[in-house]
Amino acid sequence: MTALVWFRQDLRLADNDALNAATHNHQQVVAVVCLSEQQWQAHDWAPIKRDLYERQLNYLSAALAEKGIPLHTLTLDNFSQAPKAIHDFATKHEISALYANREYPLDELRRDRAVDAWMSEHDIDCHWFDSNVLVPPGAVKPKTSAFYQKFTPFYKAWKAYIAEQGIAPPQQIKTSGQSVSTQKIELTGDKRDASAWAGSEDAVRQRLRRYMDEQVADYDRLRDSPSQDATSRLSPFFELGVIAPRAVARLLQQQSPDFPHGLNKGADTWLSELAWREFYQHLMVHVPRLSMGKAFIEYSDEFPWRSSSADFKRWREGKTGYPIVDAGMRQLNHEGWMHNRVRMIVANFLVKDLHLDWRLGERYFMQHLIDGSFPANNGGWQWSASTGTDAAPYFRVFNPTRQSEQVDPEGRYIRKWVKELKDVPTKYIHSPHSYLKAKGESGAGSSTENYPQPMVDHKEARDYFIATFKGLKK
Ligand SMILES: Cc1cc2nc3c(=O)[nH]c(=O)nc-3n(C[C@H](O)[C@H](O)[C@H](O)COP(=O)(O)OP(=O)(O)OC[C@H]3O[C@@H](n4cnc5c(N)ncnc54)[C@H](O)[C@@H]3O)c2cc1C
Repeated sequence: MTALVWFRQDLRLADNDALNAATHNHQQVVAVVCLSEQQWQAHDWAPIKRDLYERQLNYLSAALAEKGIPLHTLTLDNFSQAPKAIHDFATKHEISALYANREYPLDELRRDRAVDAWMSEHDIDCHWFDSNVLVPPGAVKPKTSAFYQKFTPFYKAWKAYIAEQGIAPPQQIKTSGQSVSTQKIELTGDKRDASAWAGSEDAVRQRLRRYMDEQVADYDRLRDSPSQDATSRLSPFFELGVIAPRAVARLLQQQSPDFPHGLNKGADTWLSELAWREFYQHLMVHVPRLSMGKAFIEYSDEFPWRSSSADFKRWREGKTGYPIVDAGMRQLNHEGWMHNRVRMIVANFLVKDLHLDWRLGERYFMQHLIDGSFPANNGGWQWSASTGTDAAPYFRVFNPTRQSEQVDPEGRYIRKWVKELKDVPTKYIHSPHSYLKAKGESGAGSSTENYPQPMVDHKEARDYFIATFKGLKK
């Protein structure tokens, strides 16, 4: 009988447990992907992420075709149509079993439960796998509660689990040996060219290998410097599942036989970032309200967020008058990606300096990021807003000028993205207003004069945020 592999955000052949099991248990395998414009809109998929998804789907389709597995598309309005559409497809192709890798946000969990129930009713077995993470949700928990609420103990348990389970060797998917033809897959809706990022699964794995060989050792030292290309920029491929974390683990194991222990500082810090990715995915399963626009710390939803579309616009456009914030937002608007440290700075600024609701920023990020990931983005925003799992509470307020001095001391990142400031001397680059004023008064005249004044006084804004948050806590 024939098996159906349902691809979602696991667009790879290697370390894909669903695909591997299907090819070993069945003579015939077909694959399907659901294209759902309304759902992407509802989930705020950025045009650049859609374009990358389309490109990666076509790479996947070609790679599957070489193994004799055709990839079909099903067009749905939204997830609620998935059970019937998949069942109709299964009936037509005489499918006896469905294979897929789990996804953890609430809409996806509900969709999969509905599909599972529908298939069971029609005697089609469903097999669900967790190969998009190293540690499945629920596999690690503290003695006294169902899940870890803080990262540090989670990370310890996460590593212990990996040490105990070991890392499975690479799989060989079984193939029929006969290649099949492919048809170009095209997504509807807005798309923005992602060709600078896209690559076949092999090409992306090579990028990963190169990063592991050449750069990861310096990660802890350089990762907070946005002007250096020191992070992996692999986030879009983790998000779409082009790389499995298990493939990463195997490469890191080559650096330390005692893996996940014994790594050099750079690799160990990088591994902890993958653990953050999984921490936020686990939280999705254990805290469904996160998928409903609610804060992790419930009382923080009482914060009297300001409403100012003009201020929100200045933040979005990178015209706040704080150079590091403006550089970050302009990078996001231009590239569809932003350096992690700067994501933290701009998020802090929106919430703690402008007192605008973190959900506005969360949504704007999703609408523009190539790596837009509901769990990671929601986690990052709530961490930054102090409504989430940060171990340091609400009084961690970033000073944007101090942050700028620390992470971009020479102002290289600022000058790259805020062109008006490209001629400002380093001494003034983090707080250029007195310099610009003097320059304007001397009549020198240049585009630098157009750079806006700081839109808020940081100290006042900070004090208000802390006092208001403190009041809620009581
Ligand atoms: C406000 C805010 C929003 C964010 N939104 C997203 C998002 O939508 N999608 C996303 O993938 N990451 C998000 N992050 C996390 C982080 O900024 C990006 O993963 C990182 O910048 C991607 O660059 P990289 O691939 O070079 O990362 P590297 O530093 O090379 O890290 C390796 C991988 O680990 C994962 N990772 C790293 N940091 C984190 C983190 N803090 N949380 C979860 N996973 C992490 C990513 O998959 C990343 O590719 C957000 C962080 C903040 C503060």
